Amino acid sequence: MARILVVEDDPALARGVVALLRADGHATDAVSEGRSALLLASSESCSLYIVDIGLPDVSGFDVIRRLRARGDRTPILVLTAHDRISELVQGLDLGADDYLVKPFDPSELTARIRALLRRNHGDPNPQVTIGRLTIDHARRTAEVAGRPLHLRPREWAVLACLSAHAGEVVPKQKLLTEVFSFDDDVAPNAVEVHVARVRRQLEPDGPIIRTLRGLGYILDRA
Ligand code: CA
Repeated sequence: MARILVVEDDPALARGVVALLRADGHATDAVSEGRSALLLASSESCSLYIVDIGLPDVSGFDVIRRLRARGDRTPILVLTAHDRISELVQGLDLGADDYLVKPFDPSELTARIRALLRRNHGDPNPQVTIGRLTIDHARRTAEVAGRPLHLRPREWAVLACLSAHAGEVVPKQKLLTEVFSFDDDVAPNAVEVHVARVRRQLEPDGPIIRTLRGLGYILDRA
């Protein structure tokens, strides 16, 4: 669905955010230093950055400033401690898109992230219909002819990616990037396994996921 980089030096908070976002279907990684974030961001493509302002090496402001100076337009959600709220304006001026003050409610974080990702994809309509399949991105639910699908986070990510490109070939590598995070130990057949599970859930009356050997997958429009 989306690849998210968390830049947070509080290990417990970073672990919590990563677990929360992975459960929400996002391939997510965390680094504790600003320099590592800038390095990773220059080599890997992300859909969203979550940046803590108080970092041990360079400040979160520096991270935002350098990302934007490089021309990186990826949405940025700023995390800040309560006693640093006065600095938030600076972060937003530098090009951050939204912010959350710690401690925050987990559901608030996931809702803000979905909104940022939707805005970035330029898709104001969170509901998508393909044949008899309906996907509600805001509620993170999908159904085929009224029958709810029971998708695990990575299966949801597979369906979200294929449906965003319905009728087009989605290369296996793209699915791999969008569904698994940078450091996951991914079994070679992991994509096939997840696609097969989603395919079974769509049967018998939903759109068909075709395998194009050596090319990738395609979710039929009809
Ligand atoms: Ca911090």
